[in-house]
Amino acid sequence: MGALLRIAGLGLALATVPGCESLAPGAAPEPRIAVVGAGATGLTTAYLLGRRGYRDVTVFEASERVGGVARTETVEGQVWDLSTMFVPGASIAGDGVEPLLAEMIEVSGERLVPGVDFDTLHLPERRPDPLPALLAGTPPDAIAEQLLGGLGLMARYAACLEADVGCSACGVCSATHPGESIRAWGTRQGVPAFAALLTTATDGLGAGPSAGVPAAGALAGGRHWTPGEAVRVLRHLGVGSGDLPPDTPGEVAALLAANAGRGARRWWSFERGFEAFWESLCRHAPIRVRRSAAVVSLAARTPGPGWLVGTQRGREAFDVVIVATPPRAALRFLPEGPRRELLAGARAAVPPNDVFLARTAGFARSGLPPVGAWWPTGLGLGTRALADPQVGGPVKPVFWLKRHPGELVVVGAYTLWPTLTREQVFDEVRWFARKQLGFEVTEWLAHERYHFPALPADPQAWWTGWAALQGADGLYFAGEAFSGSGVPAIAEAARELVARHFPER
Ligand SMILES: Cc1cc2nc3c(=O)[nH]c(=O)nc-3n(C[C@H](O)[C@H](O)[C@H](O)COP(=O)(O)OP(=O)(O)OC[C@H]3O[C@@H](n4cnc5c(N)ncnc54)[C@H](O)[C@@H]3O)c2cc1C
Repeated sequence: MGALLRIAGLGLALATVPGCESLAPGAAPEPRIAVVGAGATGLTTAYLLGRRGYRDVTVFEASERVGGVARTETVEGQVWDLSTMFVPGASIAGDGVEPLLAEMIEVSGERLVPGVDFDTLHLPERRPDPLPALLAGTPPDAIAEQLLGGLGLMARYAACLEADVGCSACGVCSATHPGESIRAWGTRQGVPAFAALLTTATDGLGAGPSAGVPAAGALAGGRHWTPGEAVRVLRHLGVGSGDLPPDTPGEVAALLAANAGRGARRWWSFERGFEAFWESLCRHAPIRVRRSAAVVSLAARTPGPGWLVGTQRGREAFDVVIVATPPRAALRFLPEGPRRELLAGARAAVPPNDVFLARTAGFARSGLPPVGAWWPTGLGLGTRALADPQVGGPVKPVFWLKRHPGELVVVGAYTLWPTLTREQVFDEVRWFARKQLGFEVTEWLAHERYHFPALPADPQAWWTGWAALQGADGLYFAGEAFSGSGVPAIAEAARELVARHFPER
């Protein structure tokens, strides 16, 4: 907070210093801003800073590429994304692509192509139960009522965000109940089933926030995933747009109507892959990225204010630093102090994800859609089940993508035991495909083990701690630990950070 006040007040302060009278308010010197990490978080933040008139923004990136975990492979002329692959839609607000992300896509000039029709998530005959275990025990009518109620609240929440209505005036999130958990929020609003769905399905892979996460964060993260999930469960319960109570908000009715038949394409892929999107955004926005420039140290400048950002090539002074790496990467360069202690309190809540681009045999005879995506072991399994070796075993193949017709497939597997080699994980995947899906997985062409960024172990202490530390001395933190997983959630959190702390220049 100190830094933003300093930036905002700089022109005024200089105008009153003897010898600086000629500097009018607003003519503050350009602050030098460093962003550490050129993943979705760093690039979105840098893009927004540029849009607000900040001209001296440098992104430091350890690798030669931009895009962070996004990795695109081209095999036999076809594009395959190994990790970040979808631009998720299905939000309660319009056709679904998060507005800031939609804007960046336009600026990048990259083209979207239909990625997943949600109906292809359903395996014929072997379709997973769409009702997460957390909802078991609640009568179907009550679930339907609560999901509709929750969708109504999300519609109001989306409208508040759109119109920039503050939290307390909007009344959906918890301004009047600071720190309230998403579970407590659900109970207070009379929609505990909706809150339960939010916690299991927020990132579409069944790895949503835990029930103890504060409602404000969980709602922001869930805005782009949960409505689609709620509609899926409602349809499973036989609720269609014709069965809605008269006071159902128009957005909810429209969402159900849009999903009434097959062919509602709601997630997209980039024609040239997700990596190409980030590269093009950097070129067209433009965003200045220093590649192969890992930050190795960060030290307060003396005399202050400001920071010295150290790389292998030396140290450079900046007025503001925004750390946009996962917490454990930041621990490598962050000085001792309360921020370091807080970041160290984050833990990996979700097991690592082994992703293979693999060749198959006999796929055409399996009866599965030639192109599409599906989650064979059950969407909405929930973080707790994903981390439990007793549920489905220690290797959980959860995500499969068939982007092009043919024999190649992308498969992701949550791997609970880090000692398992990729060969062992691949054997499990092969076994699963043969037994459950009816085709052979023969070899892999690419593999990556992704460690999901850590999330706060104690959300309450985390948010209270950051309330005092975020932005103090011109040092900010952003990323999944603050926004939840997925590019839409990251975009929304970046927009909030920049709007709140960096006034228009
Ligand atoms: C398997 C998988 C599938 C996914 N699918 C989707 C999807 O379909 N749609 C979706 O929206 N989201 C998806 N996600 C989530 C999404 O990919 C992430 O939420 C997002 O990419 C995280 O971005 P980030 O910038 O916070 O972190 P990262 O992508 O990890 O970026 C951090 C960057 O910081 C750099 N860095 C680290 N240390 C330093 C240092 N010391 N100095 C300089 N740079 C440094 C790293 O090299 C990296 O480029 C998926 C994630 C995974 C793992």
